[in-house]
Amino acid sequence: MYYTSGNFEAFARPRKPAGVDKKSAYLVGSGLAGLAAAVFLIRDGQMAGDRIHLFEELPLAGGSLDGIEKPHLGFVTRGGREMENHFECMWDMYRSIPSLKIPGASYLDQFYWLDKDASNSSNCCLIYNRGNWVPDDGMYTLGKQSKELVNLIMKTEESLGDQTIEEFFSDAFFESNFWIYWATMFSFEKWHSVAEMRRYAMRFIHHIDGLPDFTSLKFNKYNQYDSMVKPILAYLEEHGVDIQYESKVTNIDVAFEGNKKVAKALHVTVAGEAKVINLTEDDLVFVTNGSITESTTYGSHFEVAKPTKALGGSWNLWESLAAQSDDFSRGLLQGFTG
Ligand SMILES: Cc1cc2nc3c(=O)[nH]c(=O)nc-3n(C[C@H](O)[C@H](O)[C@H](O)COP(=O)(O)OP(=O)(O)OC[C@H]3O[C@@H](n4cnc5c(N)ncnc54)[C@H](O)[C@@H]3O)c2cc1C
Repeated sequence: MYYTSGNFEAFARPRKPAGVDKKSAYLVGSGLAGLAAAVFLIRDGQMAGDRIHLFEELPLAGGSLDGIEKPHLGFVTRGGREMENHFECMWDMYRSIPSLKIPGASYLDQFYWLDKDASNSSNCCLIYNRGNWVPDDGMYTLGKQSKELVNLIMKTEESLGDQTIEEFFSDAFFESNFWIYWATMFSFEKWHSVAEMRRYAMRFIHHIDGLPDFTSLKFNKYNQYDSMVKPILAYLEEHGVDIQYESKVTNIDVAFEGNKKVAKALHVTVAGEAKVINLTEDDLVFVTNGSITESTTYGSHFEVAKPTKALGGSWNLWESLAAQSDDFSRGLLQGFTG
């Protein structure tokens, strides 16, 4: 899907790329990004599914959207993502993914029909004193402080430097209901970067109307693994995509040829055994290793999850890549080691 020229381009199908029949793709990580990359390679890139190889270090696909029954713990998910109207690439993908529940429908149809029948909303967002409804719930109560928000949006990101949210806004701003809605919806703390808050304000400006009653959000019927990951897996399996679980990519050898970076080999550990996959000019490599499943520990109904500093495939791979060139997140590596 292209977005450059209204819907003239949006629904046109791309021409088959030259040489795609000889190309193969290697994807690192089977979170939503890796799964979507495989779908777009098939649908828009017109690559044969059996030329696509997806490596996932966990025994399950979905990354942050995973969810599975663990008999001694219960049904474990990593939480639920709030969704909204403007997920341009994701909704575009789901219009091509068949529903597993409704014959002849896409998963986008299924989701859309659910949203029509049972759209998300909340009659009461703010309570105080053990269950009393805050009388002005639903109002932003920003008063003159609304100008501070406008002021933030009109600034350039550079001019904000490393200011915190607390440094930028007045005390009165934090007394507003708006701040409670905003901070709880987007997980902001006063000590976070105000530049980050500005980015969210720009990205989610259309949410402001639905902030106090959650009408801007959309949810699936089931947990996100069953609702969203399984239909994509069925599509990929039907197209013969090779998904290798418990396969951790530990490094990618990169050759630097002028301005080009060329992946020459993948180092993969499968069930404890190290393998090297040599790559050719016709092989494409996509690294979509996220970071959210990294260092997960599990709690239970009786025990909180224990913190850990153990690192998994995500950081290890970034570290190996960053060691090859400053172009691969020098700042990240410095931040991490320093
Ligand atoms: C607390 C929290 C709340 C969020 N809330 C929302 C929300 O409300 N709405 C929203 O839209 N988004 C939300 N997000 C963001 C959203 O969840 C992520 O942007 C998205 O799921 C990331 O997908 P991904 O595929 O890029 O990465 P991930 O889901 O992290 O997947 C990466 C995958 O790569 C695998 N992997 C990593 N390294 C390797 C390796 N070396 N070899 C093999 N496999 C590897 C991992 O095991 C994992 O399966 C939230 C994120 C967090 C942390």
